[in-house]
Amino acid sequence: MHPHSLPFDPTSPDTAALLHHLNPEQLAAVTLPSGHALVLAGAGSGKTRVLTTRIAWLLHTGQASPGSILAVTFTNKAAKEMLTRLGAMLPIAVRGMWIGTFHGLCNRLLRIHHQAAGLPQTFQILGTQDQLSAIKRLCKQFGVDEERFPPKQVQYFIAGCKEEGRRPRDVAGIDPDTRKKVELYQLYEEQCQREGVVDFGELMLRSYELLRDNDPLRAHYQRRFAHILVDEFQDTNRLQYLWLKQLAGDEADGQLQTHASVIAVGDDDQSIYAFRGARVGNMQDFLREFDVQQQIKLEQNYRSYSNILDAANQLISHNSRRLGKNLRTEQGPGEPVRVYEAASDLAEAQWMADEIRQLLKSDQLRHQEIAILYRSNAQSRVIESALFNARIPYRVYGGLRFFERAEIKHALAYLRLLENPHDDTSFMRVVNFPPRGIGARSVEILQDSARSSGCSLHDAVSLVPGSAGAKLNHFVALVQVLREQTQGQNLRTIIDQMLQASGLVAHYRADKDGADRVENLEELVNAGESFVTLEGFGRDAVALPVDEHGVPTTTLPDLVDGDTGETLSPLAAFLTHAALEAGDNQAQAGQEAVQLMTVHASKGLEFDCVFISGLEEGLFPHDQSAGERDGLEEERRLMYVAITRARQRLYLSHAQTRMLHGQTRYNEKSRFFQELPDSALKWLTPQRNSFGSFAPRASQGNSYGGYSGYSKGSTGSKTETFASPPVPVQKATPSHGLRAGTAVFHTKFGEGKVLAIEGTGDDARAHVHFGRHGSKWLALAVAKLTIVA
Ligand code: ATP
Ligand code: MG
Repeated sequence: MHPHSLPFDPTSPDTAALLHHLNPEQLAAVTLPSGHALVLAGAGSGKTRVLTTRIAWLLHTGQASPGSILAVTFTNKAAKEMLTRLGAMLPIAVRGMWIGTFHGLCNRLLRIHHQAAGLPQTFQILGTQDQLSAIKRLCKQFGVDEERFPPKQVQYFIAGCKEEGRRPRDVAGIDPDTRKKVELYQLYEEQCQREGVVDFGELMLRSYELLRDNDPLRAHYQRRFAHILVDEFQDTNRLQYLWLKQLAGDEADGQLQTHASVIAVGDDDQSIYAFRGARVGNMQDFLREFDVQQQIKLEQNYRSYSNILDAANQLISHNSRRLGKNLRTEQGPGEPVRVYEAASDLAEAQWMADEIRQLLKSDQLRHQEIAILYRSNAQSRVIESALFNARIPYRVYGGLRFFERAEIKHALAYLRLLENPHDDTSFMRVVNFPPRGIGARSVEILQDSARSSGCSLHDAVSLVPGSAGAKLNHFVALVQVLREQTQGQNLRTIIDQMLQASGLVAHYRADKDGADRVENLEELVNAGESFVTLEGFGRDAVALPVDEHGVPTTTLPDLVDGDTGETLSPLAAFLTHAALEAGDNQAQAGQEAVQLMTVHASKGLEFDCVFISGLEEGLFPHDQSAGERDGLEEERRLMYVAITRARQRLYLSHAQTRMLHGQTRYNEKSRFFQELPDSALKWLTPQRNSFGSFAPRASQGNSYGGYSGYSKGSTGSKTETFASPPVPVQKATPSHGLRAGTAVFHTKFGEGKVLAIEGTGDDARAHVHFGRHGSKWLALAVAKLTIVA
């Protein structure tokens, strides 16, 4: 679409309305003339708002067409929100706009230009778990010593190389170990290529190389995207930065000649993905290489009251390497930041549940405006059980999400095989699931045959002799028949038929603990249906266009069949969606439920009330970070992100003892407490000094009453015996003498711990976690559970 033909009137009063809610610095950023700019600003200062409003303004004033904008945000959720907001502001179809995550946009580019990228059109995306099992398979196949080269390490190695844009041939193998890893990297690449699968790192690297090596294609996109906007720029890695550079322009004589205007917004204090290669240095490189003339600082925070903001500011001032920014707010001090010390993790969870119940009663807070944040996923279990017992609806994000559950992954594997029979990872996942008598030995024979003839497992089936071969053939035929039957069907029917034909539903129905899984499988049918509807196609659609914004045929004939004509089947599109959703480390839109998530997943979000739990040395800051360069500073930035999610109320808590990974740990309280301003805090429990006795109590009457007796040098020893502070006692649920936390024994599953109890009398069920067997719901009337004293 040519700018002049846009249906927008630059002089319309709507334009003024669009800009009405901005402060002068924000306004300047939104209405910058073309050219590159960096908006560097603290949490809650309106960076994301500036980015969205700028897109709207560009479109509204006719300076840009929807097809000429590329915006990258950190998560699927943020991208969706941006599209929704734009859709509300402007009379345009936003669906086809290039607004998404790096992975989402790369996926799109590769789908359109799959041929040029050397991929099958229906390439499948390999999630992190699938990637690991693919690597394990590889190691086994080549007899790799897994003690010496643990598959997880190989996985990190490969991901790390890809994040730096390096192929096996680019990695120098200095020592034998590295050489071996490089060799595995090479073999892994060949395996992925053969199977037509692409991992997350590959999405990025492949599309970077596509742009780098294909001059007409790069030139095309450089002309097309006149405006490139990047949110959360501080968390981009090296490769993402290079990808952006390819889109922006070409280097000539050491100078970057750009077509596009690139606007990056970010906050160095919120860089929390160093472990995934995020590189704050990209900001400096951007300033230099793009010769950025415009730098804008936003210093007013619109999110939080000043007690919360003071806490955040003071905490982050303990970091040394900062670009330096100030944040102020015009809102008053607000509530003090409340601090609670619990005797145990159970008591901490119980306290949160009690507090939330009170909040819901008195403050008329909505459930989804309350968030519980934690450093590590493992913390959620205890919190969940406390909320469950208190009958507070909650939702957990970041842990096992829908698309990551075993039964859903099984179902997706069948669907993937319908699309691509050579996807060996999917083949392996379900060849004997539900069990059809194909043993490990048969599978090994199959793998050997596949290896020696260099083909996929699917193609090697005919080479396996005897009854093993017959069974394998039977499986392949099952998938084949299903593929024929579902040809041209709508997505709902495809999923439905797959669930029946695969035997998955029947399998879980026969399992007395399988009811939840059957429900989840049924939910998959709904997920498919709502995906098709949300994407704007009728329920019965059998094909989805890849891209609505066609490339002008006159400019680049060889791109046309990719960009305009090709379509993905709804199934292929849905599988992509499932893979990208599962890989997205972030919460989804809130329901009427308290939101539980890791601090990482909370980035960019905001809530009226936030609990940050488990503030203990070793947990937050995490001990994994202790040995790493900048490790502690990254933990502090993470804490800064956590604090700045809160609008009105903030709670911090820690527990004296905590069960983690099967061990009771006695942790000191986090050093972060010492880095917060006393004046903003209110201690709800008396504090222990370094010898385990109680320091005098803070004046509790004063709502802003900071506690002055806090000993900054407090260093509790790990083994000391703690006097127990007055924590609320866990309420027992009168169900067969069981309650959350009770240790039990089951004849089949062994020792376990009750997570939650539901129902009463004969209907009572217990949710029990059994070490090796995972969590199970058991009907107490029939289950053989005994309480372990
Ligand atoms: P983060 O660093 O956490 O990503 P951010 O800088 O992106 O934060 P936003 O999420 O854009 O900040 O804005 C924070 C909150 O402040 C939002 O609720 C937003 O609507 C509000 N806000 C931003 N600018 C203004 C303004 N000028 N007037 C009123 N509210 C504003
Ligand atoms: Mg933001």
